[in-house]
Amino acid sequence: MKIAVIGVGVAGAYLLNQFSDKHDIHVTGFERMQEKDHDAVCAWATCKDVMAKYAKKCGLNFEDYVLHDGKNMRVDLNGDNYVDIKLKGMICYDKLKLIKDMIRGTEIKFGKAPKKDILESQFDLIIDSTGFHRNYLPRLEYEMWIPCVQYKVKYEPNNLPFDDFYLKSFPSMSGYFWYFPLGNGYAHIGAGDFTRKNHNYFVEEFFKKYKCEFIKKNGRPVRISPPSKSEPFTDNLKTIGVGESIGTVYPLLGEGIIPSTICADLFIKNYDNFPSYREQVLKYFNIYSLVFKFIMMKITGTFKLFKNCYDLLRIYNYMKNNEDRYGMQIKMFDMMKVSRV
Ligand SMILES: Cc1cc2nc3c(=O)[nH]c(=O)nc-3n(C[C@H](O)[C@H](O)[C@H](O)COP(=O)(O)OP(=O)(O)OC[C@H]3O[C@@H](n4cnc5c(N)ncnc54)[C@H](O)[C@@H]3O)c2cc1C
Repeated sequence: MKIAVIGVGVAGAYLLNQFSDKHDIHVTGFERMQEKDHDAVCAWATCKDVMAKYAKKCGLNFEDYVLHDGKNMRVDLNGDNYVDIKLKGMICYDKLKLIKDMIRGTEIKFGKAPKKDILESQFDLIIDSTGFHRNYLPRLEYEMWIPCVQYKVKYEPNNLPFDDFYLKSFPSMSGYFWYFPLGNGYAHIGAGDFTRKNHNYFVEEFFKKYKCEFIKKNGRPVRISPPSKSEPFTDNLKTIGVGESIGTVYPLLGEGIIPSTICADLFIKNYDNFPSYREQVLKYFNIYSLVFKFIMMKITGTFKLFKNCYDLLRIYNYMKNNEDRYGMQIKMFDMMKVSRV
C-alpha cells in the first residue's frame, strides 16, 4: 500500500514514523517548507508524561527534548487579580528536534505541496496532516480559529521577565498572551485573540517593558472548532484528515500537540477502516465540543454562570480527572475566577 502524508508537523511526523515500521506499507511525506526552513510554529508547551509515551513508541526518550520543566503557571486576570496554578508535568520541549528525530530515515519531499490529482494517481491513501490549512479536504461550512503571533526571544539569564510559565487572559476569554520559557534565557512570547483587538498590542507593550533580543517571528491561526464541527474527515475517495486539520485542539487552551498526536495514533490503529477511525475520533474528542461551546458563549457574552453552571461543572470534572494529562493542578476556585474574566 502506498501512503502519502501531506504536512510534517506533530501528526505527520508520528504517522511517518509509525507507518515506516509496517512491512506492507510504503510511506512518503510531503512538506511545503524547505528542509532548511522546516519549523514547528507553536509555543512548544506540553505535558511531559503523555508525550513521553508517544515518543517511546517512536523509540525516543522524551527527556532528551525537555527545555524547561514548569513548577507554576501564573494566569494574570487583570493586574493584581491572578491565579497561580501548580504544574504537574507541564514543560516546554524542543518540538522541532523531536519531529526531526521522528522522521529520521523516512522518505520526505521538502518544499512540496503537491496537487491532489497527482497524489491520487500515485498513492492508495492520502493523509491531510496540514494542520490549520486542510488543503486536501472539503472546505468546512463552519469553522472557528484564532489568529496568533509569536516571537522567539532571548533575555540575559539574570534579567528574565519571569522564570516560569506566564499567561495573561484577555477579556471574555477571547484569547491570551503567553510567555513560555525555553531555558538558557530563551522564551516563546506570543498572543492569540479571537477579537483581533489585543494580541499585537499586548506583545508590543510587553517588549517595551522587557527589552530582549529577537531571534524569530512567526505565527498562524489555530483552529479551535472541534472534530464534531470539522466533518467531513474524508473526501470519500482516498483522502483523510489527521490532527488539527480535523480540529484536534483543546479549545480552552489552544493546545494541539497531544490531541493531534493522539489523533495520529488513532489513525495508525484504524487506517484500513475510515468509519471506525471517525467514530473513535468523535468519541475521544467529544468533550471538546462542550468546551468549545463554553468558549463561544464567553466570547459572545452569552455565558451565564447560573444558567450554564452544569456545563462548567462538567468541564471542571473532566479536567480535574485528567490533571496528569493537562500537567496542572485543577481547582474549582481557580476555574471560577478565570471564567469570570
Ligand atoms: C502560535 C501557536 C502556538 C501554539 N502553542 C501550542 C503549545 O504551546 N502547545 C500545544 O499543545 N499546542 C500549541 N499550538 C497548537 C499546535 O501547534 C497545533 O495544534 C499542532 O501543532 C497541530 O499539529 P498538526 O501536525 O496537526 O499540524 P501542524 O503542526 O500545523 O503541521 C502541519 C504541517 O503541514 C505543513 N503544510 C501545510 N500545508 C501544506 C501543504 N499544502 N503541503 C505540504 N505541507 C503543508 C505545514 O508547513 C506544517 O509543517 C499552538 C499553535 C500556534 C499557532
